[in-house]
Amino acid sequence: MKIGIVGCCGRMGQMLVEAVLTTSGVELSGGVERPGSSFVGQSISSRSALLVSDDAKNLFAISDAVIDFTHPTGTVLHAQWAAQAKCALVVGTTGLSADDEAILAQSAQQCPIVYAANYSIGVALLSALVERAAAVLGDSYDIEIVEMHHRNKVDAPSGTALSLGRAAAQGRKVELDQVWCKSRDGQTGARPKGEIGFATLRGGDVVGDHTVIFAGAGERLELTHKATNRNVFAAGAVQAALWAHRQKPGLYSIVDVVAD
Ligand code: NAD
Repeated sequence: MKIGIVGCCGRMGQMLVEAVLTTSGVELSGGVERPGSSFVGQSISSRSALLVSDDAKNLFAISDAVIDFTHPTGTVLHAQWAAQAKCALVVGTTGLSADDEAILAQSAQQCPIVYAANYSIGVALLSALVERAAAVLGDSYDIEIVEMHHRNKVDAPSGTALSLGRAAAQGRKVELDQVWCKSRDGQTGARPKGEIGFATLRGGDVVGDHTVIFAGAGERLELTHKATNRNVFAAGAVQAALWAHRQKPGLYSIVDVVAD
C-alpha cells in the first residue's frame, strides 16, 4: 500500500514520514510541501531517496492514501483532489470552519476520509469517559476544559479541546455551540448554569495537555490526558490510513478506526 504525506516537512509531517517508512507492508509514495517552500527539491528523509515535491494533485493520483496535517486552506483543496482521485484521505488538521467541514463531507461522498482532531488512542478513550461523566453528573457540575500546547500552535481552543467539549455536550444532550464560552475577560458576571468553558494556555514545547474538570459543590472530578511525544498521533494516523484504504467512501472518525 502506498501512502503519501502532505505538509511533509512540518512538525507532524516529519513524524508521519518516519512512521510510514518504518511500517511494514507500506511504501512512502511521496511528500509534498507548499509551493514556494524552501524544502521543495530537498530529500524527504535520510531513509528515503524521494525528494519533497510541491505537486499535491499528483500525490493523490499515485497514492492509495494520503495523510494531511497542514492548514485548513490546504486541507480543503486536498479533500477535493482526494475525491477526484478516489484516494483515501486522513485529515489531522485542526481549526477547520463549518464551511471547510462541509467540503470534507462533500468530498467524502467520493472517497473514504478519516477526520479527527486527535489521533491518540488515549484521547479517544478520554472522549468516551467525558461523555459518560457528563451524562452521570448532570449540569449541577460545571464543566471547564483546560488545554496547553507549544508556543507555535495557531488555533485556539485546540481541536481536541473542542471535540472533548462536544463529547461533554453530547453526554448532557445539548449542542456545544449553544452553551460554550471559548474565552473570558473583564466583567463577565457569574457563570451561567450549563455553560461549558474553555481555557487556553500556550508556551514552550508542550505537545498537548487536556484536562476536563467537573466542578460540583464539595467535590471536583478532573480527567487529564498528556501527550508527551507526537509519535502517538503519527502512529494513529498511519493506522487510520491503513484502515481507510479498505473502506467505502464516507466521513469517518478515529472512533470508527479504533472500534473496528
Ligand atoms: P507545522 O506548522 O509544523 O506543519 C504544517 C506543515 O504544513 C508545514 O510544513 C507547512 O508548510 C505545510 N503546509 C501548509 N499548507 C500547506 C499546503 N497547502 N500544502 C502543503 N503543505 C502545506 O504544524 P504541525 O504542528 O505539524 O500541525 C499541523 C496541523 O496538525 C495543525 O492543524 C495541528 O493543530 C494539527 N495537529 C493534529 C493532531 C491530531 O492528532 N489530529 C496532532 C498534532 C497536530
